[in-house]
Amino acid sequence: MPIFDGHNDLLTKLLKSGDTDKFASGLTGHLDLPKMQKGGMVGGFFAIWVPSRGDLANLTAQMRQTSYDLPLPPRIELEEAQDIALAEAAVLVALQEAGWLSICTTTDQIRSCVSKGQIAAILHLEGCEPIDPEFTMLDRLYDMGLRSLGPVWSRPTRFGAGVPFRFPSGPDTGPGLTADGFRLIEHCNARGLVIDLSHITEAGFWDVAKTTQAPLVATHSNAHAICPHSRNLTDEQLKALGESGGVVGLNFATAMLRPDGKMLPEVGFDIMLAHLDHMMAKAGSDSIAIGSDFDGAIVPALIGNASGLPHLVRAMERHGYDAVLIEKITFENWMRVLDATWT
Ligand SMILES: [Zn+2]
Repeated sequence: MPIFDGHNDLLTKLLKSGDTDKFASGLTGHLDLPKMQKGGMVGGFFAIWVPSRGDLANLTAQMRQTSYDLPLPPRIELEEAQDIALAEAAVLVALQEAGWLSICTTTDQIRSCVSKGQIAAILHLEGCEPIDPEFTMLDRLYDMGLRSLGPVWSRPTRFGAGVPFRFPSGPDTGPGLTADGFRLIEHCNARGLVIDLSHITEAGFWDVAKTTQAPLVATHSNAHAICPHSRNLTDEQLKALGESGGVVGLNFATAMLRPDGKMLPEVGFDIMLAHLDHMMAKAGSDSIAIGSDFDGAIVPALIGNASGLPHLVRAMERHGYDAVLIEKITFENWMRVLDATWT
């Protein structure tokens, strides 16, 4: 069962390590070529992400409290963000040049990769700090293969605002799109780029929903009704996403899965399936998929890393999902929404 995934943070990790060869020889973490091949992970969205200064380990520790409200990380300046974005995009290009994956811009390319046993990568930008108001950098990244972006991570940008790491909390934590944000949505529509709504404020979500001509996509988000984290989607958001013909990828980050919001590795498949069931009930079976957040979060110990993905598939089978539904969740729903967006 081939699995296509909505979100990973491998590029940030590889840039930091400075050793792209380890993708093939083996990395400690969730993703590398052997683990992907073992787990049937045929490809996914590879995110460019500009790290915030500060201690991410400390952030994870704070998300083990009963409740938390972490301050929004400070803004990042354009030049600094552009240098890092180009360096991370270059990491993906280097992996392609080494022959370990292919950067895809059509679903025909993705399907052809799958049939050849080649990893299919979508270049994605999580947080538009590197994008200037004239979209010069966006066009440059587009030429490198970029076909998907999220206007914000958990930081304000010139385009909008992201939700903080807060539990319990709804996603209505700040303002919506700025004037530049609305222009960004129009530019993405004109170029056929996916607009990712994971992390954006609720006001920003509705601003995009009323502006975009493309299906609504949340590459890695879960059901707020089950885990009331600021980053998860309310029933109204899930319904709107489904009605637009969009997709939400099940996020494995345990703080966004566990009903108590704690970033701890103990999560049963029953919890992951409860999120899938709920998102399917609100958005429909054509609108749910996988969005692992591999190498960006603590994931359930039962999965461990990409090689453990078949355990989740078997849990879906035991839960009563039939082969057609599982194929939609693990692959076909992503292909459908990409076809509808990448015109
Ligand atoms: Zn994320």
